[in-house]
Amino acid sequence: MSKKIEYCCDSMKYFSILNCDLHKSKYDCPDVLIDSGENGAFYRIIIHDGGTSGIEINFCPWCGKKL
Ligand SMILES: [Zn+2]
Ligand SMILES: [Zn+2]
Repeated sequence: MSKKIEYCCDSMKYFSILNCDLHKSKYDCPDVLIDSGENGAFYRIIIHDGGTSGIEINFCPWCGKKL
């Protein structure tokens, strides 16, 4: 289990947490949109291309808060 991260809003929290029986990795699960790194060290939008691609973001796409 990863450590507890303070998320800026419920949407960020919802889309950052892997809660899936089918997939072991966030990068495999199409329901997870955000990789919040170790302890929220960075935030990336996951690109589900079968690998571990992502685009680093500095602001929350939902509430606009700086991350
Ligand atoms: Zn937010
Ligand atoms: Zn899944």
